[in-house]
Amino acid sequence: QPALVLLRDDFRITDNPALHAAINSGKPLICLYVHDAATTTQGVVKWWLSKARATFAATLQKMGGDLAEISGPATQIIPELAEKLHIDSVFWNRRYDLSGREQDTHLKSTLQDAGCTVHSLPGRLLHEPWVLRTGSDQPYKVFTPWWRALQKLGAPGRSLPAPEKVTFFPWPDDLKNLIFKESEISLPEGACDAEKEWLCSEETAHELLETFLETGLTHYSTDRDRPDKDGTSSLSPYLRAGLLSARQVWHATEAVMRQKPHLADQGWTFLSELGWRDFAWTQYFYYPDMATKNLRSEFDHMPWRDDETLFNAWKMGRTGYPLVDAGMRQLYATGWMHNRVRMVTASFLTKHLLTDWRKGEKWFRERLADADPAQNAMNWQWCAGTGVDASPWFRIFNPVGQSEKFDPSGEYIRQWVPELRALPDKLIHTPWQAGGDLLRHTAVTAGKRYPAPIVDLKTARAHALELYKNLPQN
Ligand code: FAD
Repeated sequence: QPALVLLRDDFRITDNPALHAAINSGKPLICLYVHDAATTTQGVVKWWLSKARATFAATLQKMGGDLAEISGPATQIIPELAEKLHIDSVFWNRRYDLSGREQDTHLKSTLQDAGCTVHSLPGRLLHEPWVLRTGSDQPYKVFTPWWRALQKLGAPGRSLPAPEKVTFFPWPDDLKNLIFKESEISLPEGACDAEKEWLCSEETAHELLETFLETGLTHYSTDRDRPDKDGTSSLSPYLRAGLLSARQVWHATEAVMRQKPHLADQGWTFLSELGWRDFAWTQYFYYPDMATKNLRSEFDHMPWRDDETLFNAWKMGRTGYPLVDAGMRQLYATGWMHNRVRMVTASFLTKHLLTDWRKGEKWFRERLADADPAQNAMNWQWCAGTGVDASPWFRIFNPVGQSEKFDPSGEYIRQWVPELRALPDKLIHTPWQAGGDLLRHTAVTAGKRYPAPIVDLKTARAHALELYKNLPQN
């Protein structure tokens, strides 16, 4: 009798608890992915997950197996398959979003009723969302005490090594008609640099981690805020597709901290960022509508502006504010944006343009290769001031000040906004101050004109503060 392993967003051979437990059961394996319309993704991340699936399947093939793909409602199609193949044990790594949880609960009881043993394991996070609780047994709402509790609790258990030998159950010929061949997922319009930016494999993820720990960690605390430097790990798409586990990142970082004690502070700063990922999932577990509902209800009364012209200018990087435009163009072309710039662009959209954060959240969800429902929703609510542990509304990033501070020589801006490349450093953050001749010259060299600012920062800021003052305070 075969054991069934369901893969969802955990496309790795190493440190994959469901795969590992299924191998240890001693039964021949069937590894399965179900294309289920109820849990599908869209946009760049859909493309990225399909690539991750393909590289995982290729690894299984090298080991003598394969990843079977079928299509249909998982809660119906898996029990049918289990019956046809006399499967008596099923393994998966847990999901924590509401629809995934509901689907898995349903599936588990159907399979158990049919006499199957179901093993649902923790594989996605450092710790399960319900593990860390406050002294009064409540979920944490604030990051800092949650992080202290996580540091105290310590590392999750040891990472699991790559399996040495796996026996696979051959997919029966009479069920070959069930195999679903997905047509190639193409990238959405404009994402022309995503393919060369993101090499998709488990090995690449480990190489990136290693390189970052060898070279990037030394200056992480300062360089992580600099979009003009290669100061962060770029691991987010790999963590999203589960090509790498959070616990592998944790242990590898701790090992470096032990070997090089002078890097301990940098290491903890990096691990605390990884901690934000778990914290986001903890919040999402307790607030499953976090992507659509203000966690601070006074914002239900915010008179958001519904101006498609302004929103489109933001989406396409045509706001007239160079750092905002550089970030939005990086996102559009590569499926990724630097964290500092994500914060600046989100603050600009919600506070200067007074656009509902949910529109920005949706755009990021479509365009990010690392688009993750919990991390995206929590961060948007953080930036908009609507979340439980959020940056307050009156903290309005000045896109010019942020640009001068974090991209001082304009290197990042020049990379993404060719219309401004020829400007001297002192004008790169405020191109509207350049004389007409200079702007005409830069427009001619780049083949297009750079727009004038779409809002006045001072007026927009004052208006945003005024509107907030008038909200009914809870
Ligand atoms: P590093 O600095 O190397 O950090 C290591 C890992 O820690 C990251 O890969 C990520 O998993 C985690 N991490 C770092 N910062 C955060 C954070 N603020 N919140 C949660 N986890 C974090 N990240 C996503 O993975 N998916 C998203 O959909 C997403 N949407 C965001 C939307 C907005 C508006 C903002 C401000 C941030 C968002 N982030 C999101 C968080 C953060 O920007 C990215 O995780 C980070 O830029 C990824 O780059 P890195 O891997 O080089 O990060």
